[in-house]
Amino acid sequence: MSDCLFCKIIAGEIPSVNVYEDEYVLAFLDINPVKAGHTLVVPKNHADDVSQSSNEDLAQVMGVVLKIAPKIQETVGGDGFNLMSNVGEAAGQSVFHTHFHIIPRFNGDGLPMWEHEGATDEGREALGEKIRNALIHQSDTLPPEPVEGASYEKMEENKYRSN
Ligand code: AMP
Ligand code: ZN
Repeated sequence: MSDCLFCKIIAGEIPSVNVYEDEYVLAFLDINPVKAGHTLVVPKNHADDVSQSSNEDLAQVMGVVLKIAPKIQETVGGDGFNLMSNVGEAAGQSVFHTHFHIIPRFNGDGLPMWEHEGATDEGREALGEKIRNALIHQSDTLPPEPVEGASYEKMEENKYRSN
């Protein structure tokens, strides 16, 4: 953690172009922007990635993201923005301190989006069941009651919050 680049930026040990700061969150311009206005929003508490941060920190970060992203878009004259957080090297993460990218987008800016590998209906059904089953065994990831309208039949039938 002491070696973490973003912790050093938060501590003011490495220069950054900050656009927003409060007790919990810092937002600064990306040093190598995909588009002008590309901003990183980070919790001040260190966690290696978004899956490791507390709900409280993420709530603070998301509150800031939603507050500043439209203003960033407006400032650079954008038409929309991408909001993303990479988790793990395989997903393109290079700095292991939780961060969200706000990337302003412009109509027809031609930035390539990822390609879709696609799946059959049967493949999606089977995979959906596998994931639901995995979630059943991790009861703290589920809401206390099945979400109305969601198909949690199997969870209710079997082990919904039973472990
Ligand atoms: P990710 O690849 O999702 O982990 O994103 C890390 C981002 O941090 C990249 O977009 C980098 O350009 C950006 N970055 C790296 N070093 C700095 C720095 N010193 N100041 C601002 N942004 C940085
Ligand atoms: Zn850190």
